[in-house]
Amino acid sequence: MQISERLRNVKPSLTLALNAKAMELKAQGIAVVSLAVGQPDFPTPAHICDATKAAIDANFSKYTPVPGIPELREAVGGYFKQQYDVPVPRESVILSAGGKQALFNFVQGTINPGDEVLVPAPCWLSYPPNVELAGGVPVLVHPGVEHAFKVTPEMLEAHRTPKTRLLILNSPNNPTGAVYAKAELDALVDWAVSHGLSVLSDEIYDQLVCDPAKPTSVIDWFVKFPEQVAVLGGLSKTFAMTGWRVGYLVAHPDLIKKFSTLQGQSTANVCSIAQKAALAALTGPMDCVETMRAAFQRRRDEAMKVIKSWPFVVCPQPDGAFYLFIDVRRCYNATVQNSTDICAYLLDKARVTLVPGVAFGDDNCIRLSYAVADEVLAEALDRIGAALAELVRQ
Ligand code: PMP
Ligand code: GLU
Repeated sequence: MQISERLRNVKPSLTLALNAKAMELKAQGIAVVSLAVGQPDFPTPAHICDATKAAIDANFSKYTPVPGIPELREAVGGYFKQQYDVPVPRESVILSAGGKQALFNFVQGTINPGDEVLVPAPCWLSYPPNVELAGGVPVLVHPGVEHAFKVTPEMLEAHRTPKTRLLILNSPNNPTGAVYAKAELDALVDWAVSHGLSVLSDEIYDQLVCDPAKPTSVIDWFVKFPEQVAVLGGLSKTFAMTGWRVGYLVAHPDLIKKFSTLQGQSTANVCSIAQKAALAALTGPMDCVETMRAAFQRRRDEAMKVIKSWPFVVCPQPDGAFYLFIDVRRCYNATVQNSTDICAYLLDKARVTLVPGVAFGDDNCIRLSYAVADEVLAEALDRIGAALAELVRQ
């Protein structure tokens, strides 16, 4: 059967592929540590699971409205009120199957063929394919490791053309863990809005920041410019719910109606039971989130201590998410020439899976997810350090 041009050119998600590969090796009894995929290692908190079981027992098993049950849309609004003191009406919220579908809806719903989309790089590997699927052109803007991977309005301005439509922001960032201060975000959104561009702010890691950083959002810009600014979020990372597939988008109610039409013709509502789980998460206690956040911070600190002792890499300290983006270019040699080669080498020598930076737009780096138990992380870092040292000696 014919494969459409559109699909033929889409790259698979390397993070998901590497996760599948690590699970396959584990099933074969090969002791591989996977620091590849970005997902919390914690179980979903018990009160969320209890609410889910209750929903099953109550047979909450029918179709729901496409953008979500009203009380959940309300609860997403409540989240922004509670966290950022910004009220968001339920008409401005759509629930989707993960932040990933929210991204798909948004880009499909707002980008025309030939439109250019500014993406600070390195970036989450799903942004460029989603832009391309809509016929748009991703324009990656590289601030570089020397700027701690953070863009400024001046860097973006250098890439703006009459075709630029959208800026995608992501703080805390995947893959670098970089966190923009509120003033830095404000400057970027201000620049975009004043040039008539749209902004999609992916805030899926907003809760996962290290002290002294605090959760930060541009939701206040959505209130001021609802036709230009949208905010994406989800429960995957905050509540350790990657498999439940619940994400959301906050946007102008007219756009939300359009995204609901698109979703109504593709997947319809998020799983009814998962919506009840999300409701319990968003309206329940947040101490479970604080416990996970503190664990991520501890792991970041431990990992940075070790990595700082490696003379042959550069790694700016991340302030959020659960990733380290390590510049390993000084380890490259005649046989290990790029980030794909070095990840293959580390899988072979250290039995650790990492993600080649090229997947995020930077071939000098590798991404390490520290969302694993402390002792697993410590062991993996020992093995990586030894293997890299050996590579440098070669
Ligand atoms: N945005 C970023 C930056 C991510 O890293 C992820 C991770 N999967 C997502 C959005 C979407 O996550 P999910 O689809 O699980 O909600
Ligand atoms: N966003 C996560 C990651 O970067 C999950 C994988 C994916 O959705 O591609 O590892």
